[in-house]
Amino acid sequence: AQHLLSRAKVHEGLGAYLAFNEDATMAQAKVADARVAAGERGALLGVPLAHKDIFVTTDFPTTAGSRMLEGYQSPFDATVVQRLAAAGAVTLGKLNCDEFAMGSGNDNSAYAPAHNPWDTARVPGGSSGGSAAAVAARLVPAATGTDTGGSIRQPASFTGITGIKPTYGRCSRYGMVAFASSLDQAGPMARSAADCAVLLSAMAGPDIDRDSTSLDHPAENYSLALAQPRVGASAALPLKGLRIGLPKEFFGEGCAPDVLATVRAALTEYEKLGATLVDISLPRTELSIPVYYVIAPAEASSNLSRFDGVKFGHRAEKFDDLNDMYRKSRSEGFGPEVQRRIMIGTYVLSHGYYDAYYLQAQKIRRLIAQDFQQAFASQCDVIAGPVAPTVAWKIGEKSADPLANYLADIYTLSTSLAGLPGMSVPAGFGAGNMPVGLQLVGNYFKEGELLQAAHAFQ
Ligand code: GLN
Repeated sequence: AQHLLSRAKVHEGLGAYLAFNEDATMAQAKVADARVAAGERGALLGVPLAHKDIFVTTDFPTTAGSRMLEGYQSPFDATVVQRLAAAGAVTLGKLNCDEFAMGSGNDNSAYAPAHNPWDTARVPGGSSGGSAAAVAARLVPAATGTDTGGSIRQPASFTGITGIKPTYGRCSRYGMVAFASSLDQAGPMARSAADCAVLLSAMAGPDIDRDSTSLDHPAENYSLALAQPRVGASAALPLKGLRIGLPKEFFGEGCAPDVLATVRAALTEYEKLGATLVDISLPRTELSIPVYYVIAPAEASSNLSRFDGVKFGHRAEKFDDLNDMYRKSRSEGFGPEVQRRIMIGTYVLSHGYYDAYYLQAQKIRRLIAQDFQQAFASQCDVIAGPVAPTVAWKIGEKSADPLANYLADIYTLSTSLAGLPGMSVPAGFGAGNMPVGLQLVGNYFKEGELLQAAHAFQ
């Protein structure tokens, strides 16, 4: 832990971390040492990791990448944080992210941009950009992230690491600063599927008393799932019998040729491992952008209404009356992208527009989920494609253009809207020698199968 803390300081310029607390880290390490000395064994015992600054922690401040929560100290730990600590993990610090997890490049962080270790002029992706940068730069072996519309998968793809967003409800949202509650899901980001399996086994599992959307489905040992040979498979053909669906909408125009070539090369390797490739269609893929950018802001506008300067968060110093206090506190505390989403969200929820936008989006969301079910019912076991249409872009390139950011989410949003598990597996390198991820999407609760498919390739 000590070594990694000093390594993190040497590479401070990457902007991966937002907070350290060396005393707390060393105290946690001591506890882990004592457990080892007492004879306890466990895959995570004494393993250093770091948390996206969207998980509340008692040992570190939590900002969610926002000025609104600057200096906020939580009186409790998020369930995911608690579970990893119970497994013996040692927390190094809190990782940079887009403000309230809204963004695709970590450039919406109110504090500092995070940089991509492969080319520091480029973004590491977002919103879990700090997590991705830290793992890719070997500042930490693994980190937590959250994914509402791609924020684990896309930064993993941009930085050449492995990340998995489990089935919605698999990991507790208790203590995760809320963005869009029907989409938010926690997951691990690490160097390999094997490492993700260890982390996810500790993070996942029911927490129904504290998160009403937590699934009452027993925790699994994903490392075992990973080691379990598939029925009919052999050492030479470990993925024999696995049908991989390739949605034509993911391979059409709009995806950069270098990304497509890298993804196709990875899929050829999958064939060599015994998998068969099947052409499928997810006809409503394009609609996932407008649907997500109605539903997510709607939920965000509701979730963020708690930051009014009264009970939580920043309060303006000078104001005339209560309304002026709200206005000034929220104008000062929230950055431009967050303000934009609050305005979109309140608009689509307002009387007269609710039916036209929000209700309509909910209906299409249902159809998007049905399209996936149709594919899984008869055509394929997993679905594969690119994670993002391009490699990581230059810092600042898309900062002034929110729509350009939204469009780049095209391949990750539908999975989130359907609540399905999805992951990014390093596939190779594209333009500018930047990493490209292969996205694998599974049916509900098929995290084990996804991790196995990724592991066989790695
Ligand atoms: N890029 C998407 C957004 O800005 C996804 C973010 C996320 O998954 N947290 O909303």
